[in-house]
Amino acid sequence: MANFTTENKYRSPRMKIAVVGFGMMGRQITQVFAQHGFEVWATDTYPEALKAGTTEIENGPYGLKTAVAKGKLSEKAMQQALTRIHTTSNIKDACEGADLVIEAAIEELSLKRDLFSQLDSAAAPATVLASNTSTISISRIAEQAKNRTRILGMHFFNPAQVTKLVEIIRGHETSEDTLNTALGIVRQIGKTPVIARDEPGFVANRLGLTLYMEASRMLEDQVASIKDIDNSMRLAYGHPMGPFETADIVGLDTRLRNLESLYQTTGDSKWLPPKALREMVNHGYLGDRMKKKGSKGGYYEYFNIER
Ligand code: NAD
Repeated sequence: MANFTTENKYRSPRMKIAVVGFGMMGRQITQVFAQHGFEVWATDTYPEALKAGTTEIENGPYGLKTAVAKGKLSEKAMQQALTRIHTTSNIKDACEGADLVIEAAIEELSLKRDLFSQLDSAAAPATVLASNTSTISISRIAEQAKNRTRILGMHFFNPAQVTKLVEIIRGHETSEDTLNTALGIVRQIGKTPVIARDEPGFVANRLGLTLYMEASRMLEDQVASIKDIDNSMRLAYGHPMGPFETADIVGLDTRLRNLESLYQTTGDSKWLPPKALREMVNHGYLGDRMKKKGSKGGYYEYFNIER
């Protein structure tokens, strides 16, 4: 297994990361690794995603040009990062010779399970296979793979370019070697790892989604308005965003899938998606970040509230 420990200062310049699923999170993860000197190969089943992804990495709100404009990155470092990003529609090409594969496809158990069985054959035996899932059990995702000891969760948070935390989720069969490799690489990209057991919601989302569910119940009970609930968490607790603003940024479709997955896994009614969330998604309100893909907006647009 490749040595990614922080002591390994003489890393091979050819160290390769494959990112499977080049949507919002796949792009952010790709950017982080490219900025830290890794060669990144991104793949997606949707050809448009490949084209749009690199443009977004360059021009998006947390993209490379913004980092240069803010003085956080030199022009030269930006150009170097861009040369390290490669895209392909062929998953085998993306995985060939990769030291680490990170899956960031949509939040669906059956899709991820099939994908990991595919990745298990496409990647070399020593390659670590990680999922960026927010809520799905890693052990279940790994079920159809032959070598399950090299599979674990590597959960980045949106926006990954600036969020320091990465959860490392240990599946029932994840080996110590795989865990240490993942911890080493997370530190190499300047992030702080936390280790979580493979329990529904892991650590941060179990807490974050609990807050969102309570906020939704308060909205249903007309305890306070969306804006006042958001303001309460920002102004009283110093959260950078309130629970509804956070849901809009995450994407309401993704949020709905997260809750459905938690509800299916646990059978606990506390995770039953709020009616309003389902209605918004059904009516094309997929959150702020999806505007470019034709979303009508998020909570503030659906309920016609001034920000
Ligand atoms: P997204 O919808 O923006 O992107 C998913 C991408 O996966 C799409 O481009 C889609 O075409 C692609 N895809 C679908 N099936 C594929 C396949 N079989 N092979 C390759 N690509 C495939 O979703 P996202 O918000 O980036 O979420 C991706 C993953 O990251 C999910 O598991 C989600 O739960 C997790 N996550 C999301 C957030 C968030 O804030 N949205 C935060 C942390 C983790």
